[in-house]
Parts: sequence; structure tokens; C-alpha cells
Amino acid sequence: MISPPDAATPDLDALRSRLLPERGGQVDDSIPQLADADPDFCALSLVLPDGSVRSSRQADVPFSVQSAVKPFLFALALLDTDGAALDRVGIEPTGESFDALKLESGTGRPPNPMVNAGALLTASLVEGADAEARMVRIARGLAAFAGRELDVDEDVAHNEHLLGDRNHALAHLMRAEGTLEPTADDAVAVYARACATLVDAETLAVMGATLALGGVNPRSGERVVPERVARDVVSVMATCGVYDGSGRWMRAVGIPAKSSVSGAIVLSVPGRIGGAVVSPPLDEQGTSVRGRLASEALSDDLALHSFRSG
Ligand code: GLU
Repeated sequence: MISPPDAATPDLDALRSRLLPERGGQVDDSIPQLADADPDFCALSLVLPDGSVRSSRQADVPFSVQSAVKPFLFALALLDTDGAALDRVGIEPTGESFDALKLESGTGRPPNPMVNAGALLTASLVEGADAEARMVRIARGLAAFAGRELDVDEDVAHNEHLLGDRNHALAHLMRAEGTLEPTADDAVAVYARACATLVDAETLAVMGATLALGGVNPRSGERVVPERVARDVVSVMATCGVYDGSGRWMRAVGIPAKSSVSGAIVLSVPGRIGGAVVSPPLDEQGTSVRGRLASEALSDDLALHSFRSG
């Protein structure tokens, strides 16, 4: 049993030790850097509204954020377009994989900002005259969510740009539909660089907490996005954040979240807590196996399920 979130020391190391013997899942092999990830890496971190942090071992080990960046790209797009990004990207779950070559029928828009098509688009909507300027804008925005400057793994950025054939295909599809403005190559370069941003579990938990707490970073005190933007983003995490596993996730865990191929999951419980759990082996929907088990345990032990009745 984990202590309640207001207790001094929830025992995340004990939970981590319980998870380590779990051997299910496969490490992503889309690029060499992800394929080389240590399958036994496992870290958990929680951030409370007063900014205090509870972390397990390895919560300071860096990894590329991958798709856990998507909620923050959506937030920055909403901020920089004054909400007009909502006209450019849908918000409906797809029931399909993260990189499905499919757009919304009738509009040609990406189905939602939590799948690759949507994140390619939201990354293109942030302020900036060209790809370089948008990369700088995204780095600045992610740093505000994190409360510190974040490095980028240049090899990951390079390989994802080079090897992301389905992302190039999605960008071309959106260009053909007239929904993506930059060139396909620029759109993939900006998105790949965002995915290659390095975080650790503690930093990602602070980012999740900033969304959970209405857009104010509980560590730095900075208002990063308006309350309405944070609410919109967390709503879409709840319905679309775990790809074609979103329905099962909401029933079992009940916490708005975003999964990623690096095995990270960012958690945002509105008004209560931000968190991150990371461990590379993934299930068939691309969700960290240990991350899912950890999230279920945290949801039960800390009474975080959105639809609990008491
Ligand atoms: N960079 C990965 C891709 O676009 C992200 C996918 C994910 O984390 O689910 O393929």
C-alpha cells in the first residue's frame, strides 16, 4: 500500500521493487537508441500541488521523451494560436495505432493531437517563421513546463528524422489534404526533435503536474499556459492519450495520461498530482508494461481514479 499523497514519503521504491520481476513486453526497436534501452530501467516520480516531489530510484536517469511530449506540443499550439489549433486538429479517439496512415474523413485533419499525425500538425502550429524558429519555440515551451532547460539527444533526433518513414508519409498526406503548411520534411524534423528531448522521471512528473494544476508549474511558480488550455489538453489525454488502449486505460487506471515508445507515461490528475512512470518494455499498444502496472497501483493506493465514487 502506497501512502496517501499528503504523507511525507510514499514508498515508490517498494512499488518499483514489486514491478521489477515483471518481464512482459518488448523494447521498441524503431531506432537503435531506443532498441538499446535497458529493459530493467524503471523509475517513478510524483509531484504534489505544493511542488514537493516523491521519487523512486533512477528518477534522475535521462531518456528521450518521445510521444509523452504530445500533450505539451498541443498545449503550446493552443497557446500560440489563441485556441485556433482546435479548428486544425480533431479530438476524437481513433482506436488505431499511433502512426496509422489515416486522417479525419471529410476534413483531412489529423484525428487527434495524441497520435503522430496530430503531433506533426501541432508542432507546426507553434509560433515561428521556419522550422528552426519552431524548434527554438518548442524548446523554450518545454523548458517552462519542466522548470529547467532540457537537452536534446541529437542522435535520436537525427535517426527519427531519417528513419521515420510513416511520419514522412503522414506529413505528405496532410500536405495533400491542405491541412499542413510547412514542407513534410520540415514538419518531421521539428516533431522528431521534440520527441528527442531528454527528460527524467522527475522532470516529466513536474511537466504532468503543470498540466494537472491548471497550467502553473508548481516548482517554478510560472504560469506556463492558461487554465483553459491545460483543461483542454488533459481532457484529450483522458480520451486519446494511450492510443488504441485508451478505453482500457481509463477503466483500469482512470488517470489522464500519455504513453510513449521510450516506455514513459506522463500522468495528470487534475488539481491533485502529476506523475511519471517509465520502463522501456511495451505492450502491443505501445504502453509500458511496468508503467501500466505502476499507474494502476498508484491509482488504487492513492485513490486517483477519475470515476471513483469515494
Ligand atoms: N517518435 C516516435 C514516432 O514518431 C513516437 C511514438 C511514440 O512514442 O508512441 O514514431
